[in-house]
Amino acid sequence: FGIDNTDFTVLAGLVLAVLLYAKRNSIKELLMADDGAITAVSSGNRDIAQVVTENNKNYLVLYASQTGTAEDYAKKFSKELVAKFNLNVMCADVENYDFESLNDVPVIVSIFMSTYGEGDFPDGAVHFEDFICNADEGALSKLKYNMFGLGNSTYEFFNGAAKKAEKHLSGAGATRLGKLGEADDGAGTTDEDYMAWKDSILELLKDNLHLDEQEAKFTSQFQYSVLDEVSDSVALGEPSSHYLPSHELNRNADGIQLGPFDLSQPFIAPIVKSHELFASKDRNCIHSEFDLSGSNIKYSTGDHLAIWPSNPLEKVQQFLSIFNLDSKTIFDLKPLDPTVKVPFPTPTTVGAAIEHYLQITGPVSRQLFSSLIQFAPNADIKDKLTLLSKDKDQFAVEITSKYFNIADALHYLSDGIKWDTVPVQFLIESIPHMTPRYYSISSSSLSEKQTVHVTSIVENFPNPELPNAAPVVGVTTNLLRNIELAQNNVNIKDTNLPVHYDLNGPRNLFANYKLPVHVRRSTFRLPSNPSTPVIMIGPGTGVAPFRGFIRERVAFMESQKKGGNNVSLGKHLLFYGSRDTDDFLYQDEWPEYAKKLDGSFEMVVAHSRLPNSKKVYVQDKLKDYENQVFEMINNGAFIYVCGDAKGMAKGVLNALIGILSRGKSISSEDAAELIKMLKTSGKYQEDVW
Ligand code: FAD
Repeated sequence: FGIDNTDFTVLAGLVLAVLLYAKRNSIKELLMADDGAITAVSSGNRDIAQVVTENNKNYLVLYASQTGTAEDYAKKFSKELVAKFNLNVMCADVENYDFESLNDVPVIVSIFMSTYGEGDFPDGAVHFEDFICNADEGALSKLKYNMFGLGNSTYEFFNGAAKKAEKHLSGAGATRLGKLGEADDGAGTTDEDYMAWKDSILELLKDNLHLDEQEAKFTSQFQYSVLDEVSDSVALGEPSSHYLPSHELNRNADGIQLGPFDLSQPFIAPIVKSHELFASKDRNCIHSEFDLSGSNIKYSTGDHLAIWPSNPLEKVQQFLSIFNLDSKTIFDLKPLDPTVKVPFPTPTTVGAAIEHYLQITGPVSRQLFSSLIQFAPNADIKDKLTLLSKDKDQFAVEITSKYFNIADALHYLSDGIKWDTVPVQFLIESIPHMTPRYYSISSSSLSEKQTVHVTSIVENFPNPELPNAAPVVGVTTNLLRNIELAQNNVNIKDTNLPVHYDLNGPRNLFANYKLPVHVRRSTFRLPSNPSTPVIMIGPGTGVAPFRGFIRERVAFMESQKKGGNNVSLGKHLLFYGSRDTDDFLYQDEWPEYAKKLDGSFEMVVAHSRLPNSKKVYVQDKLKDYENQVFEMINNGAFIYVCGDAKGMAKGVLNALIGILSRGKSISSEDAAELIKMLKTSGKYQEDVW
């Protein structure tokens, strides 16, 4: 097919992509500055072989994690190696080391690698990626490794980072032991994929290292001590030690609190306003506005806000009760070796750790069951636990399908007998740590510089298997709903709230509706030229960043008009979808925007559950607008997709492939290739979850 506008823009885009590729390290470094280091090494030595040798380690586990999942699995794997084989394992974030000496690491290395974005390495793996991609043939000929990739098959570049790492390591002569593990979050099988990979790797390691397997025995990485008194240096749930009364906050002369605010230290931001966007029979959606003034945080339209939640009081009580723990016990943790970092502020109390630092809700892993066997309160329970930890189908039926969290599952297994045989250290080291949740910012930094808007759908549904049990709830979204109700003086007794929180937080740090947050930079950006046409596809809360985009265009056009400039805005076409008309987000705002943008903004709406009507999705509407969409793409439109990664993003992609294929009279394969090029050149961007 001949060169037309699309092809030309794709070509131009490719050139841009090559330039961006060459510059991506500095871009990633910029991004890294935002999310900071999770694990640090107290010695400060970054030479990987030296640290392994100096600390007499006989196994190395490395992880490259974006949201903490690869880190969790790397730590689980390390613990199992210690518990079953008594190995002296070092588990480390690749961000904290240099790899020039990787070939001289005298031990086998396991690598846990997450894939992020378009098949990319996580931000913190920039140096590791650089090193392995540029390693000469034979440069890693002494290295023996295995690898477990964490990915999602609903994305195009499934486990792209792990596959790429694997290709370069083997190209440099390293020897892989066992299969490349490929976890698939899209199919919801990450845990089972891990278990299958791990079992095969452990068998292989047993042979390779002549290991004797012992009954799993927990060995703590920390010296645990109990203290008597709460002093100003005891954390009661403060998200970082900077917020302890014993610590001076770092402020400049104007009283601005200095960051950086990232995964290691959030900003405590007031929610200045929040309201319910809709409340239907079984769903609520909350709009929350966070004020970042006094923090020096700058955000750009299209970025994400990370919100640091705490656990609901009901879940905290349930957890304390099943393990028979005293919430007031004060403890301290000291690492037993310099390659380990204490995961949250200490000393702290058991209650604070459970409420603020541990992820006590959410699905239970079979791996956790198997490591709990050693602490079963009696022989019968031990047998049941052993059976379930070995039988994935039975585990799925008895535990996963019932939406049990860890306390529910243990209560079910022991029929209420307390698990006071489980040491607190084990819980601290085995239960995943609380991580922030990310939200696509729905405001525009041009129209509201210091205020960040978030649009969240509240996760709360009846347990499908156990209708009389408590509903299944999300931690952060119910917290936002609790705040919204309290802030608007709704009597909580009149509501059907499934869970409640201590909204004042540790030492009243969160009083008056504050929450810890940080901003994560994204690459989801409007084209810099306002005359470029834009197609946005965002059903449900996927519309959040597009509200930000449109507010950005409105603010821009108003400032141009004021300055007497006559700028013409390209067509901005938004495909939005909701179930019915009562869950139509920001319904009153869109006509206002259309008026202010003099018709350059148009919205097409699909409803999937209107009574007595056919289900219509955004991808169906794309087809209805086929000619217009094709023409816009041909004229260089940028395409943005936001929202559900599973069904919607794929459906939209297929609809667009069809539109391009028919419009250009080319095969679907060629149309898919064109879209791939649009993606590489940044003209097709996804913000999906
Ligand atoms: P969690 O506590 O994390 O729970 C997650 C889910 O697990 C819930 O559905 C919960 O009901 C379920 N669950 C709880 N216990 C169990 C159990 N025992 N077994 C099985 N399931 C269980 N969301 C938005 O609403 N708006 C946005 O703009 C938005 N933008 C995002 C942008 C990005 C880049 C990403 C990655 C995600 C985005 N999300 C957005 C999703 C958001 O980050 C959260 O995942 C979501 O709000 C749920 O958080 P939560 O803490 O309430 O639920």
